Amino acid sequence: MRIDSRQYGGRCICGKEHQMSTRTCIIDSGVLRNLDEILKDEGIQGKRCAVYGSNTWNNPLFPHPHAEQEIVLPSEGLHADEHSTAEVLRQLSADTEVLLACGSGSIHDTVRYCAAQRGIPFVALPTAASVDGYCSSVAAMTWHGYKNTMNAVAPLLVVADLDVISRAPAYLTASGVGDMLGKFIALADWRIAHELTGEAVCPVIYDIMKDAVSRIWDSCLDTRSGDQKAFESVMYGLLMSGLAMQMMGNSRPASGAEHHISHLIEMRPAGLGAVNSPALHGEKVGVGTLIASRVYHQMAETEEISGCVRPYQPLDDGWLRNFYGDTLYPTAVEENLNDCLAAVTPEAIVKAWPAIREIIAEIPTEAEIFEKFEKLGAKRCLSDLEVPEELLPVLIAHSPTVRNRLTLMRVRRMLDLS
Ligand SMILES: [Zn+2]
Ligand SMILES: [Zn+2]
Repeated sequence: MRIDSRQYGGRCICGKEHQMSTRTCIIDSGVLRNLDEILKDEGIQGKRCAVYGSNTWNNPLFPHPHAEQEIVLPSEGLHADEHSTAEVLRQLSADTEVLLACGSGSIHDTVRYCAAQRGIPFVALPTAASVDGYCSSVAAMTWHGYKNTMNAVAPLLVVADLDVISRAPAYLTASGVGDMLGKFIALADWRIAHELTGEAVCPVIYDIMKDAVSRIWDSCLDTRSGDQKAFESVMYGLLMSGLAMQMMGNSRPASGAEHHISHLIEMRPAGLGAVNSPALHGEKVGVGTLIASRVYHQMAETEEISGCVRPYQPLDDGWLRNFYGDTLYPTAVEENLNDCLAAVTPEAIVKAWPAIREIIAEIPTEAEIFEKFEKLGAKRCLSDLEVPEELLPVLIAHSPTVRNRLTLMRVRRMLDLS
């Protein structure tokens, strides 16, 4: 499969001019063996530096691309943070003209940040269908402990070899499926925000994402038998998530309440105690998706909302400080400075409630998602993530403060539902 992403650029029926940075995505079997030819066809020339995680470096299925320089980062404990990026920038030859990211999520975020710092393009060579960020133009970084998105660049080209991806460990694919099923929540949050505040929804992007997640819903269980068509669907969805973010200029089409739960666990605020989850991004998003699905469907059980709506109250400063602790508190305050919830009135909630309930009805139930995860062997509860189950109410209450974005989870602050 070849995605010519330039077709999504330009003037759209939503009225926006969508900017695309990625030119082409190729998803196929054995395609890495033709990499030199593909780079030539795409006009990507010059001295290359390939950046590997050590797992990919040692993977016999991954044909090492030709490169003038190679940098190998230890996969054990690898995160996209101030350390990994400093190490790549320290080693990187001054005359490198293109970076090749060889690995999964953390390597790609490290490389996309370094490419932006050096002002050079990069090519993505993903080794697993594990995460939705490959085509993203922002890097999901942990910068001095705070989970944040940093300015970076999207890949010019993605070459995803299904021979490599379909043989990646099953838990990596399960993580990618978790990241993708999260779009059911993200897309619902987007439409709910539109209902409540008139926030713009691009119908083209919405339909692309809805189609991508539906395909994965239908075919994800076939990855268990190594079916390359199923892997192609998962990879297509993961790449389209990044392309949708490029079109939108932010992560709205791909990230909602479920991602905020995942980010909060990664940030390790004081209020979560000594939590240090070793789980992958998509695994945490998967569990966040189960939680959000349960909470949203429970909310939708209330048909008549008018007696349950409270006027908007600003976030309590002491509540934020206690929860985030001294280190994270300043960033949390800055993030929530102009609380997007302030634009929502009780009247708007009452008026939009029937539409919101219809939107929630389209989200698969917790039991339906759980069944997929169980069959895939995916992580499916907080304790699977090494997060104590008793933190569930804390995660539900605090996760919306991770990002100042209107989600139904944030709207809960104005609702009194027993
Ligand atoms: Zn549009
Ligand atoms: Zn994600």
